[in-house]
Amino acid sequence: MYNIETRCVQDGYTPENGEPRTVPIAQSTTYKYDSSEAVGALFDLRAEGHLYTRISNPTVDCVEKKIASLEGGVGALCTSSGQAAVLIAVLNICSCGQNFIASSSIYGGTINLMSVTMKRMGITVRYVTPGMTDAEIDALFDENTRFVFGETLANPALTVFDIERFARLAHTHGVPLMVDNTFATPILCRPFEFGADIVIHSTTKYMDGHATVVGGVIVDSGRFDWAASGRYPELTEPDESYHGVVYTKQFGPTAYITKARVQLMRDLGCTPQPMTTHLLGLGLESLHVRMERHCQNAQAVAEHLAAHPAVSWVNYPGLPDSDQHALAQKYLPHGCSGVVSFGVAGGREAAVRFMDSLKLAAIVVHVADVRTSVLHPASTTHRQLTDAQLVDAGISADLVRMSIGIENIEDILRDIDQALAKASGTR
Ligand code: PLP
Repeated sequence: MYNIETRCVQDGYTPENGEPRTVPIAQSTTYKYDSSEAVGALFDLRAEGHLYTRISNPTVDCVEKKIASLEGGVGALCTSSGQAAVLIAVLNICSCGQNFIASSSIYGGTINLMSVTMKRMGITVRYVTPGMTDAEIDALFDENTRFVFGETLANPALTVFDIERFARLAHTHGVPLMVDNTFATPILCRPFEFGADIVIHSTTKYMDGHATVVGGVIVDSGRFDWAASGRYPELTEPDESYHGVVYTKQFGPTAYITKARVQLMRDLGCTPQPMTTHLLGLGLESLHVRMERHCQNAQAVAEHLAAHPAVSWVNYPGLPDSDQHALAQKYLPHGCSGVVSFGVAGGREAAVRFMDSLKLAAIVVHVADVRTSVLHPASTTHRQLTDAQLVDAGISADLVRMSIGIENIEDILRDIDQALAKASGTR
């Protein structure tokens, strides 16, 4: 097998003699067959092939194969957004009356989905808060628990998830570990190597990397033994919507990802489009190069901010005095990705002045693309909260979240310095 950099560029599509060098865009909703028997075999899952683009498509297939290769999984399913990836990944093994365990340090949109929408579907989340002991986490499991969930590098708290520890806890209770690897990407961390079973991504972030396409993906390690666990009749007993197919028997290690596609993507239709998935594929070809530069630039920005008198604190796991540094050295040895958060001395007003003074970095509600961007949650996404409520939410009034791009580092630092000077009134 090639190294990961080569797999970013080459995997997923191997043209035959005379075929297009790059992945062709199969902008077609449907496919043509020579006989009713041929199409019937697809409907019965007896043959492999494309039936309808809601379920699979040749362009999307190439991108899925590339991502599966990068993560080291047996199969992948692209979705229309990261939110859709989480939704399908969860519903594939968890239904009304059941529960799951999640780290409380995860993306706010995922918290909404899990705490509000899934609750209305009868699925309950039990959060693990920082500092909980193994015994306290053990006590959260019961016979209806179906999986454990966390983010490798959490958005926006930048806490590092102890994948090995949570894999051990999950497996002791006979359930899989699901990891959102969006901020790390498989370039910086491959959760399957630490015992995770399912990986999901918002491909909207670094994988696309250019802020062009909203998308998500689910990747299956193929290693979790659903039959041995005995908790997943949806995978080990006949599916009446496919004439009694038993996924674990018919598809073996790809049972989970096959069911997610042929049953849930068929029924829910959160499908990515071939044209835009092609753009995701282009982004993936340079993922390794971009991540290296994002990490270098973010580390330099974090170190610069940490020594700056107009900055009251910096949160970046790559800083030696970060309380996440030890975990980062284990799980993110090649760099801690591109997001840095910090406090502007002078509180909310100074933070707003800083933001408004930036020239290169743009204010956007997004992270993880090639352009340096910035957000002040207290005056935007969380502006309805008081300073006291912000502290409860783990977001201080002076917090600025900066997504460091791949521009020249001197230009980024100069922009930050001139804006900090204006924020602190020294210029
Ligand atoms: N997971 C993480 C870690 C995210 O940061 C996001 C979005 O910011 C999502 C999931 C949701 O992804 P999307 O916006 O593509 O639906």
